[in-house]
Amino acid sequence: KTMPKKFLNPVEEGKLSGDMRELYDRILPTKDSDERRARFVQKLERILNQQWPGNDIKVHVFGSSGNMLCTNDSDVDICITTPLKILERVCLLANALADHGMERVVCVQHAKVPIVKFWDPELQLACDMNVNNTLALENTRMIKTYVEIDERVRPLAMIVKQWTKRRILNDAALGGTLSSYTWICLILNFLQTRNPPVLPSLHKKPHELRAGSDGRRAGFNDDLERFRGFGKPNTETLGELLFNFFRRYAYDLDYEKWVISVRDGRLISKEGKKWHLMQNNRLCVEEPFNTNRNLGNTADDTSFRGIHLEIRRAFDLVKEAKLANCLEQYEFPA
Ligand code: ATP
Ligand code: MG
Repeated sequence: KTMPKKFLNPVEEGKLSGDMRELYDRILPTKDSDERRARFVQKLERILNQQWPGNDIKVHVFGSSGNMLCTNDSDVDICITTPLKILERVCLLANALADHGMERVVCVQHAKVPIVKFWDPELQLACDMNVNNTLALENTRMIKTYVEIDERVRPLAMIVKQWTKRRILNDAALGGTLSSYTWICLILNFLQTRNPPVLPSLHKKPHELRAGSDGRRAGFNDDLERFRGFGKPNTETLGELLFNFFRRYAYDLDYEKWVISVRDGRLISKEGKKWHLMQNNRLCVEEPFNTNRNLGNTADDTSFRGIHLEIRRAFDLVKEAKLANCLEQYEFPA
């Protein structure tokens, strides 16, 4: 078997990095999109507090609209916090939102995290809303901190996300593939394990045990100013990072043996964690805040094999500096 290509030549590197810059500029959210997202939060806060006055309803953004990795067409993930427990029955919330002009309102009460899905025709935004599920606010803040530490993280992560969407590899719920959150963990761990590293492990750095809004302590060091520029000793370009990202997950990583851990900033042994006995454990990605959870378990064996083949296909194209081909969309019948 032939060894995968180790380096891009300078011409390929320059072309790939240039193409990545161009794509990045194209998919960055516009000012208008950012403004509509900000207005949307204010509008929801107004609607909900009007409907249930005196209940201190707060509207928080999480997911890609809060971690700097959204594009113009990303939906808005919203968590509302309130002591008014009846709102956790999200169908009540759904009715109120419909009364205020929201469209395509659907309440999903019987999910692990109940949500309301809807569309705001005025601001042209789709939204998933939950009540008092504050866990995701923390991991959103963690991702945002990592993104801000090194300026290569945002373009790299947005381009990999774009690829996962084009190749239909990011539908954990329906497609049996991986969520955006899982893909982001793969990117972060890749950057933590470069030599020298582009990112630290924020969970391992000593941090204050601050009390969170619900009494939990902050799990990671969020002192951005301390870590900004951490990746400077690593001089890899965007093109080299994308090439090595795909190479790692296409050929270098021994999936049989390792668990990807953003919390530890390294790979840890599958057997050591006893995860070699689990179901759907071909791809093991530790949830950074709850190390018993495998984010990779949304993919079964067949699905993992498909994802792995797609990563190999992407590497084979990127190693020839063919970014556009790598992002080529599947054709659907109209
Ligand atoms: P996209 O732009 O594709 O919507 P996203 O960053 O919003 O990407 P999602 O996978 O839609 O990512 O998830 C939204 C947020 O929900 C994540 O940022 C994360 O905070 C949280 N989340 C998603 N899946 C999990 C999970 N399995 N465990 C904990 N938190 C999760
Ligand atoms: Mg989202």
